[in-house]
Amino acid sequence: MNAEILCIGTELLLGNVVNTNATYLSQQLARLGISVYHHSVVGDNAQRLEDALRIAFQRADLVITTGGLGPTYDDLSKETIANYFHRPLVLHQPSLDNLHAFYASRARKITPNNEKQAYQPEGAIVFTNHSGTAPGAAIEDNGKVAIMLPGPPREVKLMFEREVLPYLQKFSNHIIVSRDLQLFGIGESQVETLLKELMMQSTNPTLAPYAKEGEVNLRITASAASAEEGYAMMEPLMEPINQVVGKYIYGIDVPDLQTALVTYLLEHHITVSAAESCTGGLVSKSITDIAGCSDIYPGGVCSYSNEMKMKWLNVQTSTLETHGAVSEETALEMAQGIRFATGSDLAVSTTGIAGPGGGSAEKPVGLVYVAVVGENYQHVEKLNISYGEQTTRAMIRQRAAKNALYQLLQAAKVISQTD
Ligand code: ATP
Ligand code: MG
Repeated sequence: MNAEILCIGTELLLGNVVNTNATYLSQQLARLGISVYHHSVVGDNAQRLEDALRIAFQRADLVITTGGLGPTYDDLSKETIANYFHRPLVLHQPSLDNLHAFYASRARKITPNNEKQAYQPEGAIVFTNHSGTAPGAAIEDNGKVAIMLPGPPREVKLMFEREVLPYLQKFSNHIIVSRDLQLFGIGESQVETLLKELMMQSTNPTLAPYAKEGEVNLRITASAASAEEGYAMMEPLMEPINQVVGKYIYGIDVPDLQTALVTYLLEHHITVSAAESCTGGLVSKSITDIAGCSDIYPGGVCSYSNEMKMKWLNVQTSTLETHGAVSEETALEMAQGIRFATGSDLAVSTTGIAGPGGGSAEKPVGLVYVAVVGENYQHVEKLNISYGEQTTRAMIRQRAAKNALYQLLQAAKVISQTD
């Protein structure tokens, strides 16, 4: 199979933007053993794009385009390419759901021209956009393949790594394998900054971080003649990665924090319980989402009022009066209380201010205490959760719950190692 890379955007022709997408895609296709014979660039113009497509398909089996998938009037790539293949645009429901989730998570309203991005050529294979809104797509037609990707380089990279590589596997005789390192307690941009040099040096395997619900997933992807060879190629990267971000890595090739936690607890026969205030049961929910949790989770309580904190968890009146419900002291007593009630090895508690109201200068919205206690273990984490102006109550609660899961996992590791 041979390929052409066709980048769309008047800004590229004007020389305002360097065509880094073409460079990146060429490197990636080389890893797959797919030969790239041409690069071309065309402006945001339907007629010239159509001409460019015709020429490209005369000389290539695979044409990868970038740019022009956005919601505005000059974004015409999808329409033009669909038209070239005589495919009408039809609603792709999963894309619409993703769009709504994207806007909801940023507390922004979706507009009709945003929804346009959920329409895809009939019969196309759709690629999720993990860092922006415009999905990508592939159209297969009579042995020819068109792949359209968005313009922003960061979206191109993530989509290529996560979605397009697995798709292109069937056209390649190289084997692509990947390994996912899961990180908690560090942001995506921080991971990127810390690993920048390593990421730039690594072309095979590649290294790409991606943020997902308060966690960062660092994917290492190798292309090789066999899976064994691919995994072996990743080994030399592990040491430098560990040196820089090792302390944030909580698991490798595990789907998420809750699965990592429950798996670890099951393996080490450690039981846990939870006393939740601001997270309102999210910690218990996360643990009980995982099948098999009944062996490690006797139960928990949602103790929202001071009264219930006293009645169910034996939090002292004086503690509440002196330090308040949102304090290190209350968090500790809550955890001790639920541990006593359930007899679990470890217990976690959450207490905080989820907002939007109820904050003060001393105790602002986003202030959360997470306490973990065990027989010879005690740890309190003070969090100031804020994602800037976009911060919502849901985000604070989610983040606090995740932190509780993470603190439990850390505690479980400590107590199982000292046993
Ligand atoms: P958006 O939703 O952001 O509009 P889009 O898919 O419509 O995305 P464009 O509008 O074509 O993409 O490009 C968005 C930005 O991405 C451009 O302003 C430019 O900075 C960058 N970009 C586009 N194409 C390339 C390229 N080939 N190489 C590097 N950067 C590019
Ligand atoms: Mg655009």
